[in-house]
Amino acid sequence: MNTLKETDSPRIQAALKANAWVTNQFGALPLLQSPLLLEEAPNGLQHAFTTRHGGETPAPYDSFNLGRHVADGTLKGDALANREVLCDALSFKHGWMKVPGQVHSGNVVEIVDPHSEPDLSGVDALATSLVGVPLLLHFADCVPVIVYERQKKLLAIAHAGWRGTAQAIVKNSVQALCEMGGSPEFMIGAVGPAIGTCCYPTGPDVVEQLMATVCGSSAGSAEEDEEIRRNLVVTAVDHSVRPNLKAINALQLLQAGVARVDVSDLCTACHPELFYSHRQSGGKTGRQGAIACLIF
Ligand SMILES: [Zn+2]
Repeated sequence: MNTLKETDSPRIQAALKANAWVTNQFGALPLLQSPLLLEEAPNGLQHAFTTRHGGETPAPYDSFNLGRHVADGTLKGDALANREVLCDALSFKHGWMKVPGQVHSGNVVEIVDPHSEPDLSGVDALATSLVGVPLLLHFADCVPVIVYERQKKLLAIAHAGWRGTAQAIVKNSVQALCEMGGSPEFMIGAVGPAIGTCCYPTGPDVVEQLMATVCGSSAGSAEEDEEIRRNLVVTAVDHSVRPNLKAINALQLLQAGVARVDVSDLCTACHPELFYSHRQSGGKTGRQGAIACLIF
C-alpha cells in the first residue's frame, strides 16, 4: 500500500480518510448511514445505503435486490416490491420515487415535478430541490455518492463506476446543484460502500482516464497532481495498477469545492456476506441501493 505523507495536501488526506459507518435497523431492514449526512437529519435530509439483507429475493440474488434488470428481468416484480418496502421503512412516498436507467454515463438530470415520468434511461445522477421526492440509484461495486446542499436544501445522487468517474459525474452533479442555486461551500458529500483498491486491478488506460478528472485541473498544483497519483493509485504486489475509486470521487467533490466528505471504509467485493459485488460474483448478483429524500 502507498503511505500518505504528512506533507500531502489536506484535500488528498480528506479524500483518503475512510470511516466506519453506522448500521441502523428500520424494521426488518438493516441500513447503512453516513455519520456526516446523519448530522443533517434535523435539517431535512433522510438517507440510507442498503445491504443485501432484509428481503426475500432468492439466491444468488438474495435477499434484498433492488435492480429490476437482474436475472434477465425475471426478478423485476420482486425488485419493485423491495423498492416499495425500502420507501415504507424510511417513510418515503413510493409513488414519487425516481430511479434512473444507469448506463455508466456522465449525465445528471434535475427532477422538477414529482408527478412526471421523465425519460431517465441514459442518466446516472439525479438532482432535486423537491421535498418528498425520493431518489434511488442501485449498485454492485460502483461508487454511490450522495451530495446535500444544506443552505438551499438541494440533493443529488450519482452512480460512479469507473466510466462514470472518468466522465466526472460527481463534479457534474455538484455543477447541477450550483445551477439550481446551490453553493459548494454549503455542500457535504457521502461516498458509500464500493469496490476498494484491494479488489480492483485494472489497466493503465483506465487509470489515466480517471486521473485526468483530478489532475491537471485548476483546483490543484503540479505538486498536488504528483501526490494524487502517488496516493490514489496503488501498484499491488502483482504489479497491477489499482485506482482508489472511492477516493477519486471524494477528491472530485473536494476539488469542486464541497466542504466536507464522508467515505465508507467498506469494500463491496471483500464483503459478499453484506453486499452485492459484480466482480466477486462474476456478474450474477443483485443490486444494493443508495436512497435519499428531502423531507421538509
Ligand atoms: Zn476488497
